[in-house]
This record gives sequence, structure tokens and C-alpha cells, in this order.
Amino acid sequence: MGILEKIRAPFTAVQVQGLNEYQTGTDFGHKMPPFTCGNRGDDPHGEEGGDKGVLIATEQGWVCPCCEYTQDWAHSFMVSSRTSHMPHFFERVLSTEEKIALVEGLQADYVELRSRRPGAAGISEMLDTLQQRITELKAEL
Ligand SMILES: [Zn+2]
Repeated sequence: MGILEKIRAPFTAVQVQGLNEYQTGTDFGHKMPPFTCGNRGDDPHGEEGGDKGVLIATEQGWVCPCCEYTQDWAHSFMVSSRTSHMPHFFERVLSTEEKIALVEGLQADYVELRSRRPGAAGISEMLDTLQQRITELKAEL
């Protein structure tokens, strides 16, 4: 698949994991802007995930945890952004402990969002992604 290829929903579980890592930067790959909600200028969009109105990938497609917005496609490179990263020589590489702390911070933000908006779309998928990432990183310690 070329780098500019698009994939369309339904997404597989592996794609959901990869897309949500991309969205939150927990791939620790090349820092690129996440897909954001088309209504993100409106209340009550917050900055969970690291930007305003970060969309969440689910097997049915993208959802916004703060409104009804959906989207059905992604760039294929977003799924596997973990492996495509070549750090610059001047870039400080985070330690595994620092990466875990960062993912746990994002996890806390989504747990908080869930308590404010019970049943909001995509939050369980995002929490699954972040928990899987933490488990993997802890195995590297
Ligand atoms: Zn929205």
C-alpha cells in the first residue's frame, strides 16, 4: 500500500489500535497532527488525546466523544506510524518510564471524560488502546 492510500471503515481491531496510537502520539513515531472533529470549535470539545476534538477510531469508523461527528476513512500510514519513525540525531528519545507516564496521563484524561460524559462514543476503544500500549511498554522494562 502506498503512503497516500486511504483505508475505509469498517476498521479491523489492529487498525483501531494503530489509528488511536497515531491520534494520541502513543506510537511515539513521527509527530503529526491527529484527525480532529469538524465541530471542534463548539462546546463541549476538550483536549483529551492531546489536541482539541481528537477523533477516536472504532471498528465502525471514526467517532467524536463530544458530538455526533463521524468519518469513515484514514490514511493507511496512520495505522502503522510506530514503525515509520527515524529519530533525528538531535531528538531526545523518551525513556520507557517516560513513555508509560505519558500514556497514563492520556488514560487519566479519558477516564475523566468518561465520568463527565458517560456512554460517550469511542471512549472504551481509546481506553483499550492506551491500556494495551501501557502493557506493552511495561513488558519492555
Ligand atoms: Zn465533535
